[in-house]
Amino acid sequence: MVVFECVACGAALTVPLTQVDGPDHEVVHQWGNGIRYMPSLVPAGTYAGRDRIVIAPGDVRGVSWIEDRLVGYCCGIDGHEGPNLACACGRPVATRVDDCSLWQVVRFEPDAVRPIGVPDPVREWESFDWDTTPLTDADEWWQARAEISAAVAIIRVLTAAGGAPVTVPDGPLADTFRREFDAQRLSGPALSLGLAGPGTTEEADILLVPRHPQTGDAWPAQGSVVPISAELWVWLARTDEQPVRPRTGGQWAPHLSDDPLPRRPRTVEPCLWAVRRWLP
Ligand SMILES: [Zn+2]
Repeated sequence: MVVFECVACGAALTVPLTQVDGPDHEVVHQWGNGIRYMPSLVPAGTYAGRDRIVIAPGDVRGVSWIEDRLVGYCCGIDGHEGPNLACACGRPVATRVDDCSLWQVVRFEPDAVRPIGVPDPVREWESFDWDTTPLTDADEWWQARAEISAAVAIIRVLTAAGGAPVTVPDGPLADTFRREFDAQRLSGPALSLGLAGPGTTEEADILLVPRHPQTGDAWPAQGSVVPISAELWVWLARTDEQPVRPRTGGQWAPHLSDDPLPRRPRTVEPCLWAVRRWLP
């Protein structure tokens, strides 16, 4: 594990943390329209970082508010005025976001922190569960994450296709992607889309492969690959019914009327707002 410390004074600014793949759902800053409190962008005890290190708000240490930047709309802080957390040495180091409809996060400024300690060993691909889509009340946000990941996948597949039409086989790939690919109304020789990853190797022009849940590295495969989130990949690749894990109360939102419970989430509707935002 590593602790992130202030580059200016060396103070520890986090608890010990483990790396996870950078979440796709970060690209959709706002989910829904107010009222609803969102979960943390990354799980407690973890960090991820592309341009900036992000952690769960509860994992930050040794900081204080920058009081003239605690702005939001109704339920919390949206962070739009820049860093609102300062190290004890006075340096602004991070922005906390916790307003409703926003993924809760502490996002460190670039170059404000550095990792200290020994990173966890990189786990073998086989050590992760590549067969089960979690269906638990404790993870009611799976659907939102998957829908955003599907939108990100659409953008990346269309980019990889370079203007060619994309065809998909029937099943979860078609249910998730075909409508949006067909809506592009592209002409010319089509490229096929398939899946490759742990236990799965399909023949296709473009392969959706999982990202390593810890490092974000793409599953090694030959040819044109589009790395996607591991949890979306598992849902696309494993169509068998899956065990329903014990629930702790309530009902999983997309299936409020289902009895008995579904054995896997039936559909993933790509977050079209995200698709429209990034498509030319
Ligand atoms: Zn400091």
